[in-house]
Amino acid sequence: MTDDYERLLGRGLAKIKDSNPSGRFEMPVPDVETHGQRTIVRNFSQIADKFRRDTQHLLKFFQKELATSGTIENGQAVFLGNITSSLITRKLADYANEFVFCKECGQPDTKMVQEGKSEILSCWACGAKRQIRNLK
Ligand SMILES: [Zn+2]
Repeated sequence: MTDDYERLLGRGLAKIKDSNPSGRFEMPVPDVETHGQRTIVRNFSQIADKFRRDTQHLLKFFQKELATSGTIENGQAVFLGNITSSLITRKLADYANEFVFCKECGQPDTKMVQEGKSEILSCWACGAKRQIRNLK
C-alpha cells in the first residue's frame, strides 16, 4: 500500500521536475579536513540525507572503497589515513551512480528495498528496478 502511494507521489514529483529544469539535483560537495593520519568529512550525514540514504550505508561504501576504517562522530565521518577531497568527491559520484540514480530515467528519486536476499533500487519516478550490490 505505502509503496504504491510513494510511487504515485514520485511520479507527480518527476513531472514537476521535468517542467522545471532548475530543480535539477545538485551533487553535494564534501567538506574535507585532514588531521595527521585522520581524514574528516564534516558534512557526511548531510550528504547521506541529500541522497536519502542511511549514513551507515554511505559509511560502509566508503570503508570498502577506500579500504580503511571509519566512524561517525556527530554527523561527521572520520577515516583513518590521508584521503584527498578529490578522491572523496569521485567516490561520492560513484556512490550516487550505483546507489542513488535511476539508470532508466536518471532521476535521484529512488529508494533501496530488500527483496529476499537481494538489495533492489526502486525508482519512484519511472518505476524501474535494478539489483544493487549488497554492502553487508
Ligand atoms: Zn527511473
